[in-house]
Amino acid sequence: MSRVKTLIDKLNREKHLDREEWVSVITDYTDDDMAYAADIARRISLEHYGNVIYIRGIVEFSNICRNDCYYCGIRRSNTNAQRYRLTADEILECCDEGYGLRFRTFVLQSGEDKGYTNDELCGIVRRIKAAYPDCAVTLSLGELEHDEYKALREAGADRYLLRHETADCQHYEKLHPAEMSWQHRMDCLADLKSLGYQTGAGIMVGSPYQTAECIAEDMLFFERFRPEMIGLGPFLPHKDTPFRDEPKGSCELTLFLISLCRILLPRVLLPATTALGTIIPDGREKGVLAGANVIMPNLSPMTVRKKYMLYNDKLGTDSEAAESVNNIKERMSAIGYEVAVSRGDYK
Ligand code: SAH
Repeated sequence: MSRVKTLIDKLNREKHLDREEWVSVITDYTDDDMAYAADIARRISLEHYGNVIYIRGIVEFSNICRNDCYYCGIRRSNTNAQRYRLTADEILECCDEGYGLRFRTFVLQSGEDKGYTNDELCGIVRRIKAAYPDCAVTLSLGELEHDEYKALREAGADRYLLRHETADCQHYEKLHPAEMSWQHRMDCLADLKSLGYQTGAGIMVGSPYQTAECIAEDMLFFERFRPEMIGLGPFLPHKDTPFRDEPKGSCELTLFLISLCRILLPRVLLPATTALGTIIPDGREKGVLAGANVIMPNLSPMTVRKKYMLYNDKLGTDSEAAESVNNIKERMSAIGYEVAVSRGDYK
């Protein structure tokens, strides 16, 4: 048995590895170790969630952003991005279409757009919850103040996605301009959790300057913080960012980390992300077979899809929501999974 397999078994048993052990797993794994981890992860996911994949309809309601993250296609310095902001009515129309397609979670994601007041955002959440009381609302609006998170939670938001991007402060500083703070982002995550949101953290796999030590730190952070959701996708360059010439992240390492997260936190909600589906055509199937149990098809109006371009060639900008859902159902059924019509809360 390889040393990596021994460590995977230890992780499965003790739900903990120390820093050096993580580094060694992340550095030394082979295809065979990947398959071994995927097998365990898939079994754990079947045990807790069955052969059921939850779908979340994502509405990318604004690409206006005050931040300037070096990796992101909608950073404020990208003057080639055509900016848009949906109205409350337009957002509600997306949810209406999504409800008809049997989505029971709506994810509202945007840049850090100060063009909506927090009261307006609360109003949108309240309207969605009133119109679809059987649905969950997930927000992904970036870093806000405590009172804003609190008001949104009181308005009915159930979950919040805020990838920490990296648990290594020095690495964070290489991905973001000096005006952004790693500590603030981490504080936001703690805040969200304390307000009772099902909270999602996560990273881009293979982001520039990321080392095995950085990822080991991320895994230790997941163990400590116990997020209800973890988003892992490969870094993909965007042509109008300072990282335009940086290499893509590894699809294999992304899949391996999905398996390791499933083993570490058996009940975590783990999406097979759009970035994973973008880097390889069967990325989402492979993600599910590695232990993922969530897929997030796009519900944004077709007219804005291409404008919410976080990275080059983003998947799903050409097909209608209905078409994507059918496509996902077929792909999932081909590998023995079915798509659920339910909120799909953390168990
Ligand atoms: N403004 C929100 C949403 C950001 S976009 C926030 O700050 O949380 C959602 C995620 O997309 C980011 O957290 C980041 O991890 C990912 N992302 C951005 N640019 C990317 C790129 N070039 N490649 C892969 N993922 C990217």
